[in-house]
Amino acid sequence: MSTPAIDVQQLHKYFGDNQVLKGIDFHVDNGQVVCVIGPSGSGKSTLLRCVNLLEQPTSGKIFVEGDEITDPDVHVDAIRSRIGMVFQQFNLFPHLTVLRNLTLAQQRVKGRGKDEAAQIARKNLEKVGLAAREDAYPAHLSGGQQQRIAIARALSMDPDMMLFDEPTSALDPELVGDVLGVMKDLAREGMTMMVVTHEMGFAREVGDKLVFMDGGVIVEEGDPVEVLANPQHERTQSFLSKVL
Ligand code: ADP
Ligand code: MG
Repeated sequence: MSTPAIDVQQLHKYFGDNQVLKGIDFHVDNGQVVCVIGPSGSGKSTLLRCVNLLEQPTSGKIFVEGDEITDPDVHVDAIRSRIGMVFQQFNLFPHLTVLRNLTLAQQRVKGRGKDEAAQIARKNLEKVGLAAREDAYPAHLSGGQQQRIAIARALSMDPDMMLFDEPTSALDPELVGDVLGVMKDLAREGMTMMVVTHEMGFAREVGDKLVFMDGGVIVEEGDPVEVLANPQHERTQSFLSKVL
């Protein structure tokens, strides 16, 4: 059995007295796409943020490619550099061109030279279908284009896996498809992905596993087609009846 890409064991997270994650156990295998669904406030974002140490878990263990990232001595930047993150709000630098948005962290964090960084950036812009927009500023792009730029920026850091937190939730409906298309391409190429989403079609088509969270626990998980067609738990049934 090979080492999972992400292995979460008995993860608990409190914010003050508020217990947000109440003992989460799950893993993502290499090359797997795991989709996470659940009502607002159920802890989905907190879970993703713990996986790349944007939040400090209160207790429990998380392993990334076999390395315990909850070890107090862990080199946080080294772990984060293996994990690409894409947020609902694209978080591009508004005062920088698309190309500079993609090269900045490559130069500062990866220590790449300007030309090499630009070459890698252009390869990834091509991948997301926006090679022609390298000189544009984010404000001149649609939300869907900005999100595809954010994905290209994350890919330019050569992550081993990608985390997506509701990447299409802020987009007008007609822009969602292009972003999902880029994510489907990535999945097809074998990228390991954890995707918090309300796009059940994407989960069904692309997901290897669907995780339903509610109230800080995993209520149900399984094959997306199975879970969506035949949810076993009342809470899953109730949630799906509202969103499907
Ligand atoms: P979801 O992504 O499923 O909507 P979140 O993980 O964002 O859920 O939030 C789960 C709970 O944790 C909510 O009650 C939210 O208010 C709380 N929470 C999230 N982040 C913070 C924070 N930085 N400080 C305090 N409470 C937080
Ligand atoms: Mg969230």
